Amino acid sequence: MSTAGQVIKCKAAVAWEPGKPLSIEDVEVDPPKAHEVRIKVVSTGVCHTDWEYLYESKKGMKFRPFPLVLGHEAAGTVESVGPEVTKFSPGDQVIPVFLPQCQDCDRCRSPKTNHCRKNWANTQGGVLADGTSRISCQGHQVYQFLGVSSFSQYTVVPDTSLAKIRSDAPLDKVCLLGCGVSTGYGAALNTAKVEKDSTCAVFGLGAVGLAAVMGCKAAGARRIIGVDINPGKFKKAVTLGATECVNSTDQQRPIQEVLLEMTNGGVDFALECVGSPFVMSAALESTTDAWGLCVIAGWTETETMSVAVEKILMGRTLKGTYFGGWKSVQDVPKLVDEYMNSQLKLDEFITHKLPLDQINVAFDLLSSGKSIRSVISLW
Ligand code: NAD
Ligand code: ZN
Repeated sequence: MSTAGQVIKCKAAVAWEPGKPLSIEDVEVDPPKAHEVRIKVVSTGVCHTDWEYLYESKKGMKFRPFPLVLGHEAAGTVESVGPEVTKFSPGDQVIPVFLPQCQDCDRCRSPKTNHCRKNWANTQGGVLADGTSRISCQGHQVYQFLGVSSFSQYTVVPDTSLAKIRSDAPLDKVCLLGCGVSTGYGAALNTAKVEKDSTCAVFGLGAVGLAAVMGCKAAGARRIIGVDINPGKFKKAVTLGATECVNSTDQQRPIQEVLLEMTNGGVDFALECVGSPFVMSAALESTTDAWGLCVIAGWTETETMSVAVEKILMGRTLKGTYFGGWKSVQDVPKLVDEYMNSQLKLDEFITHKLPLDQINVAFDLLSSGKSIRSVISLW
């Protein structure tokens, strides 16, 4: 029986307040309004950003309203579409994207950026275009995270924040293209534009950093140095293309000095995939002073990094990347094709598969450095 037009009752992991574990609840998901699509979430990854908003909301993150359903790295199928939706039909396989692509605004028309601002203020504030969320629990409105909220069996997203993907793609793998892997891979390929035969350093070897390693390799980098404080990450980094790995806690000197010496003057490209202002400065300073390029993929919203002016005067460049520079709606399906053609790896990133009621275990595995990605099965 079709559920279109009806409120759907289902399970979701609700964050009632910051700093407290998620709670599995019965929620109600309203039908989609104009230009919205209701999706059945099949699989979702658990990203560091989800964890940070829950557990570090007072540290580096701007406050988000609670109660909240987190999750933004997912794949599923279309359950029903709201009025004026033309590009999606029930049954389509889709990846919701926290970064929209309306294909209409000045930014979408510019090749210089992927940063479409459609519905931006609302989705950042936890609601959709009309200022409300489609999820409720025990009579409370539950806010949506980045316009997605994939820690729920059903969710409603704007039609400009949804990528239609091929029908034969395995959703429990390609969900990772909704955030972490696309971000790191694109940080190397699109934002850094890593060059053939170059020397690269990747700081932080979680999913984002490992994907950056994979991007550096795809670009033909000759030397790819992985840097982490957890040596448990090194084996996988080598599998994905790192030529050597350095444990920064083992060093007697600052890591940037170690890298300058190892590379006889600095790397061509450094990618920061940790989210620490301290590591960001080290990454910048580990590049060659003449043309080194440092890309920041790691996330922090309220902290400041320090850049000594002298460190950039000779020609270094500092850039940030959002979702790896991909134009979300058009590029995510192409990344799915790359995975299906064995050009891009995803299976290597998945260290754990867990049901929805084990989602707090996935957070523990991530924060303790034991997982790269846990994929949560919603059903
Ligand atoms: P993760 O927790 O899986 O990985 C982080 C890695 O950094 C870990 O391996 C950890 O051991 C390592 N690390 C911690 N401190 C370090 C230090 N001082 N030096 C070197 N390594 C250190 O996280 P993830 O899911 O890979 O995400 C990484 C960052 O990217 C987070 O800040 C996340 O919020 C951010 N992110 C940004 C975007 C974007 O669009 N720019 C998208 C997704 C995630
Ligand atoms: Zn746009």
